[in-house]
Amino acid sequence: MKITIIGTGYVGLVTGACLAELGNDVFCLDVDKSKIDILNNGGIPIHEPGLEEIVARNRAAGRIRFSTDIEASVAHGDVQFIAVGTPPDEDGSADLKYVLAAARNIGQYMTGFKVVVDKSTVPVGTADRVSAALREELTARQSHADFSVVSNPEFLKEGAAVEDFMRPDRIVIGCDSSAQGDKARSMMKKLYAPFNRNHERTFWMDVRSAEFTKYAANAMLATRISFMNELANLADHVGADIEAVRHGIGSDPRIGHSFLYAGCGYGGSCFPKDVQALERTAQDYGLNLLILNAVEAVNARQKQILGNKILKRFDNKLVGKHFAIWGLAFKPNTDDMRAASSRVLLGELLRSGATVAVYDPVSMAEARRVFELDFYDAPELLDAIRYASSPMDALDQADALAIVTEWKAFRSPDFDQLKARLKQPVIFDGRNLFDPTVMNELGIEYHGIGRSVLT
Ligand code: NAD
Repeated sequence: MKITIIGTGYVGLVTGACLAELGNDVFCLDVDKSKIDILNNGGIPIHEPGLEEIVARNRAAGRIRFSTDIEASVAHGDVQFIAVGTPPDEDGSADLKYVLAAARNIGQYMTGFKVVVDKSTVPVGTADRVSAALREELTARQSHADFSVVSNPEFLKEGAAVEDFMRPDRIVIGCDSSAQGDKARSMMKKLYAPFNRNHERTFWMDVRSAEFTKYAANAMLATRISFMNELANLADHVGADIEAVRHGIGSDPRIGHSFLYAGCGYGGSCFPKDVQALERTAQDYGLNLLILNAVEAVNARQKQILGNKILKRFDNKLVGKHFAIWGLAFKPNTDDMRAASSRVLLGELLRSGATVAVYDPVSMAEARRVFELDFYDAPELLDAIRYASSPMDALDQADALAIVTEWKAFRSPDFDQLKARLKQPVIFDGRNLFDPTVMNELGIEYHGIGRSVLT
């Protein structure tokens, strides 16, 4: 099928590459010329396991192309996926300006029937706004071209995006019940048929329910994390080990083991903004979502937990102290640092007068870019950051190590070397990578999250 992807970011590029891999003829559009140039020069603008190979293979086979040409992109695809960003507006609601601009672009150039798919995460009711924008453009140029707007939210996880897209646990598609909706449904069915060969993974529903499903999923996952973080903080006070508690409750099939990890807060481009946007939607209808308010508040507090533990351990005196940070990305296997906990910790340490050496396996370049923005008001603090060349290099002469991202590469370090390089063997582990008993035996002072039973 002929597919256009509008927005060649994490979701758009993965969607385009994976649909090309299945034999479709894919046109990827982006307004960011530098991104398109990177792709056309054989590069890849993001770190995502397996993506580079798929893009290269399909480009070579002529099944995927990258361009900034809007008119050509509209002409190409019978199905037009909108996969642009939906960042939070000042009031927390999802800013739809990119989505509506994409819709207008389609409306300005389309000539025949188009299925317009909202793949971006958008609030309930957005499909109606996309339809209105398309209709307005068509009316302005007296076109009778027809369309149907479909909701097909994306559930991929950064760091495992290709795998998630190729082997989804579910595909959610919302279509309306008009004749155009029926036509769109049959085209979407054909497009996704390869994913449903073993068993049906598609959940067909109305458009609003599909839009809501995405927010409900992210809100549920964020809730589990904040709930465990809150329990972990209590565990620290009462002398219980949250890791033992996690096993104890996760074995109940009604609870399950996934997403029960206590840590130093969730980040990324989705959970923080989607929780906020859902709260905002509720407010628009005069409702106050008490649980989600708390989820957000707990997470904001949790992002400060490593900084607070460090301040407490060093009697609030960080001037002249030096720390190592392992992990800057908001989670492993990505270079994405949007809303990453590392940024909160770094800010707390630097603004308290400490110096810091940072290391991340893939997001060092992104870190330099992001920290310039974070410290635009105090650029002198940038001089207090050293970008280390390896995890061990980061440790030299540090008063303590703080672990923020659970990269595999951090899980089994050479502890003898680690102790030798640190000024003193102290670890603040924001992801509970190590066993406190083992740390104790190794003579390492260990501060996990909710593991004070042995510390
Ligand atoms: P992103 O910022 O990585 O990519 C968005 C891209 O859209 C950018 O490259 C931008 O230049 C481009 N763009 C903006 N306006 C455009 C226009 N009018 N025409 C063409 N291109 C345009 O964003 P992302 O992380 O891929 O997220 C996209 C959407 O998918 C968001 O709504 C997000 O919430 C949702 N989502 C993201 C993830 C994830 O893990 N990143 C997972 C599921 C859903």
